[in-house]
Amino acid sequence: MPSDIAIAQQAQLNKVSQIAQALGLNEASVEPYGHYKAKIEPALNPQLQARADGRLILVTAISPTPAGEGKTTTTVGLGDALNHIGKRAMVCLREPALGPVFGMKGGAAGGGYAQVVPMEDINLHFTGDFAAVALAHNLLSAMIDNHIHHGNALGIDPRQVSWKRVMDMNDRALRQIVVGLGGKVNGQAREDGFDIVVASEVMAILCLCDDLADLKQRLGHIVIGYGFAGQAITASALQAHGAMAVLLKNAIKPNLVQTLEHTPALIHGGPFANIAHGCNSVIATRLALKLADYVVTEAGFGADLGAEKFIDIKCRKSGLRPAAAVIVATVRALKYHGGVDLTALAQLNLPALLAGIANLQRHVHNLQQTFGLPCVVAINRFTQDTDAELALLAEQMAALGVRVVLAEHWAKGGAGAAALAEEVVRLTEAAPTPLRFAYEDADTLWEKMHKLATRIYGAADIFAARRIREQIDKLQQDGYGHYPVCVAKTQYSFSTDAALRGAPSGHRVTIREVRLCAGAEFIVMVCDDIMTMPGLPKVPCATRIDIDAAGHVVGLF
Ligand code: ADP
Ligand code: MG
Repeated sequence: MPSDIAIAQQAQLNKVSQIAQALGLNEASVEPYGHYKAKIEPALNPQLQARADGRLILVTAISPTPAGEGKTTTTVGLGDALNHIGKRAMVCLREPALGPVFGMKGGAAGGGYAQVVPMEDINLHFTGDFAAVALAHNLLSAMIDNHIHHGNALGIDPRQVSWKRVMDMNDRALRQIVVGLGGKVNGQAREDGFDIVVASEVMAILCLCDDLADLKQRLGHIVIGYGFAGQAITASALQAHGAMAVLLKNAIKPNLVQTLEHTPALIHGGPFANIAHGCNSVIATRLALKLADYVVTEAGFGADLGAEKFIDIKCRKSGLRPAAAVIVATVRALKYHGGVDLTALAQLNLPALLAGIANLQRHVHNLQQTFGLPCVVAINRFTQDTDAELALLAEQMAALGVRVVLAEHWAKGGAGAAALAEEVVRLTEAAPTPLRFAYEDADTLWEKMHKLATRIYGAADIFAARRIREQIDKLQQDGYGHYPVCVAKTQYSFSTDAALRGAPSGHRVTIREVRLCAGAEFIVMVCDDIMTMPGLPKVPCATRIDIDAAGHVVGLF
């Protein structure tokens, strides 16, 4: 197989105007960014707006191994496969962050013959949305320090400013810094730090808001820290939210591109899957549902985090309702969950596979029983997978009443996932069952966390030190108790210990920190050492990325 970038560079793309026209979009709502990308005006004409929504398909996965198991690739492949079997389908994805591109993981535009294109642009600052989010975020940061410098009328306590600065680059040297050094004219010295852009609350807000008015209002609700009297200081008190919204006026519009097989794709927003909810924007998803009969979308991480937040955060507030879920698994990841070392995943090992299936079974159980979602397991085929392993998987999963479908879109494009598409259509044709949530709005924050830990993660209990418990109680008293909780924990395990593979149970989940996101309207419960400014590895991918004199890019994996 050629590399992802070689496949992408050989693709014959249609003009984006052609893709938009086929969707029924008129010229006025399409703003081309070059030939192959366009911003779409989210407010549709009355004719399109009156159309019934298409069916939303959520692509999620087992607890991933460090390699990533192919959610994006499967989202793209399934979109192509649905079109291949004669349906009108679109895909909705997140925008890739630059950190992983230059660091370890590579891009996030799919792989093999299931990719969105132009992949170089999509992976490398695309239409500038992340830059706009960073600017809006950093404008608020600048206004905080400026306010303190000019007399601090609001009484902001410089030791209690939690609003950091952000940039779209993995740079560990910026994690903890001191700003304002150099004497009186340079402001007040205080501790600060940088997060990556995808960790910005502005990104989460952009992805959860309904429209520009809602965006602005939520930006105003951001709490940047506390004052000397213990009062919350908001972005609206600093009068920053209006200008922040202006910087986001283009970023709020979804970006239209295409897959290798010309399936339309909206790629919009990219909130972190740990301290935020990890899915593309509500605006893009709603738009896609008006434009296509089937919309395939991805949630970050494994289903215990990604699918849970998709449902409990994104769907709860927006009213979006998935008709079915696809759980992506790979034979190699299941063997890893069965205890096999990362280096030995290519070898046949039926006992390990059998043991590792427990992880898949727990995720299936959660989606079916807790959330009431019809689902199918998609085995993202790797070349070394054997028939014996695939047969064992199908046999083990039959008991749960969920079909296991082999998907070969990575090697064969949409045609390779036709069987998956047929099963998805079948699932969505059954009478819809009401979506259930893991907890109710009226549950206290503590109860919400307890339900997630016990019902989704298989934990016995939750724990928080007294100081944290008091913070949670204070948020409850201050009127934030109706917000959903957004758990930040490792994606590699149901527990908070990345080394506990498979389906651990009886563990305890410790809440180490809580964060109020009053603009995004959720409470982050940090249950791990969460890195919001990653570093680059010893040999970063950036060392292999290059461009020749003719503008030909290499090394983007
Ligand atoms: P996720 O969205 O779950 O993080 P991706 O879809 O981005 O995972 O895939 C991660 C990487 O694995 C990509 O580089 C992709 O090319 C590769 N990949 C995905 N599916 C396959 C497959 N069936 N065979 C080989 N490589 C694959
Ligand atoms: Mg992905």
